[in-house]
Amino acid sequence: MADDATAGSDFIRDLVARDVRDGKYGGRVVTRFPPEPNGYLHIGHAKSIALNFGLAREFGGRCHLRFDDTNPATEETEFVESMLEDVRWLGFDWGGHLYYASDYFGRLYEYAQVIVRKGLAFVCDLSSEEVAARRGTLTEPGIPSPYRERSVAENLDLFERMKAGEFAPGSRVLRAKIDMASPVLPMRDPILYRISTAIPHHRTGRAWNVYPMYDFAHPLSDAIEGITHSLCTLEFADHRPLYEWVLDAAGIPRPRTEQTEFARGNVSHTVVSKRVLRRLVEEGHVRGWDDPRMPTLAAARRRGYPPEALRRFWAEVGVAKRENVIELARLEAAVREELNRTAPRALAVLRPLKVVIVNYPEGRSEEVEAINNPEDPAAGVRKLPFSRELWIERDDFLEDPPKKFFRLAPGREVRLRFAYLVRCEEVVKDASGAVVELRCTYDPATRGGDAPDGRKVRGTIHWVSARHARRAEVRLYDTLFTVADPLAEEGRDFTEFLNPGSLEVVSDAFLEPSLAGAAPGTTVQFERLGYFCADPDGTAERPVWNRTVTLRDSWGKLVRRGDAD
Ligand code: ATP
Ligand code: MG
Repeated sequence: MADDATAGSDFIRDLVARDVRDGKYGGRVVTRFPPEPNGYLHIGHAKSIALNFGLAREFGGRCHLRFDDTNPATEETEFVESMLEDVRWLGFDWGGHLYYASDYFGRLYEYAQVIVRKGLAFVCDLSSEEVAARRGTLTEPGIPSPYRERSVAENLDLFERMKAGEFAPGSRVLRAKIDMASPVLPMRDPILYRISTAIPHHRTGRAWNVYPMYDFAHPLSDAIEGITHSLCTLEFADHRPLYEWVLDAAGIPRPRTEQTEFARGNVSHTVVSKRVLRRLVEEGHVRGWDDPRMPTLAAARRRGYPPEALRRFWAEVGVAKRENVIELARLEAAVREELNRTAPRALAVLRPLKVVIVNYPEGRSEEVEAINNPEDPAAGVRKLPFSRELWIERDDFLEDPPKKFFRLAPGREVRLRFAYLVRCEEVVKDASGAVVELRCTYDPATRGGDAPDGRKVRGTIHWVSARHARRAEVRLYDTLFTVADPLAEEGRDFTEFLNPGSLEVVSDAFLEPSLAGAAPGTTVQFERLGYFCADPDGTAERPVWNRTVTLRDSWGKLVRRGDAD
């Protein structure tokens, strides 16, 4: 695969290169991508996926895909399957290295017993609310649990009985015994295990009544798999001492897995948090996890984003230590750049206005030659049917045009793309005065679009032959939110910032006939309109197309303006 995902250097690549050079892990590089299967992967995850799998590829190592499935209440098999599909779609391969934290439940329980035996963990009967209330603050130490000094024997017995299902959820937890006055809050006797009996686990069913917390399961899963570089986002930086503490307490020798944090990838005008995306789906604000307005990878695929564009986008953004928000326009520019190179062109009319070529014989039709992709000569040409009745874009005609309007108007001549020069001779209106049809003449000597007498026209417009066109539904998208960061507004719910105009359905568009039967996922540029992708909702009788992205390159313009300054 292309190098796009692995370009450049950054502090993580420097670190890994140094470890390899120093022979720290015998030269091995083993990374992992560890999603919790509680939703669909989103474009933020793509950054982490590209980083972890990209590093493994660059350094001749491997990357594990591990489901961090330690919470039966939120995890589902549907999410596991979508994640497998999405990682593969992005272009990465875990080889035989697919793992589940739940596969380690037995070993994790044994590690917990080791820690209890060392006197480094205790069973606490406080409720989770009481634990939280006694945690203290950054300026005040926490209050130790009254159960902190239980004997090892009692702790082992209670923990065993928690596992056996003797106690109600919430009645007891296993906690690390570290330091209630630690300036690092996660070190204040964090919870390691909790009881959960209500909901069966998606893989282990009802075999377990206790489940490990992330801070316990994660470092040990990394150690069990021999992960060398455990890369996570910045919010885990103050959990790193706990990561180390768990490995020490469990007796994991060095050299061993080490955690390094990098900045989360954030994109403007959307949200990258599964919890938030789940609300959008469950409350019906979108049509599902793969609604093309969603920032999920499933939605990106359905909308027509090429995986190469996502990989290149994150490679260009780079990996840094400081949080920032990337303009959505920049992601769209990456999509546009990729599709400009690869997507074949087609003619389609979204808001049709009838044109009758009065001097073209009734019943006749012919084929003109159209270029498939001016960026790619190898893409060749195709035939486009032309006939007496055509559809053009309503916007391409003005009865009373301003000076700079170079499209069609009474008495004006324009070029029909790939076909002929035509002149508007007459405007037909209905009783309300609305324009319903244009009567035009064509110049038979201009086949292909150029006049042999050298006369010039200023405008070229697109069209489709009415008799040959296929009617389709076209879905146009705008940003899902009206503000750059819908989660940033204190005291307001992000749903208040949903864009009511995020989906516009054009129910009677007309497409050139070559698009009939296009398979879902087919991506095409509708000339002058944007890039579009055939949607699985479509049928043979009623195709449906999504607009992937417009042609307007606002990010490119911004960059060019910046360059000029
Ligand atoms: P979410 O809030 O969407 O659930 P998460 O971090 O809780 O995100 P996980 O399933 O635990 O979701 O994420 C798997 C991996 O992806 C983690 O290593 C996490 O750090 C990383 N990750 C999640 N979101 C981003 C992001 N926006 N940018 C980069 N990496 C991310
Ligand atoms: Mg999460």
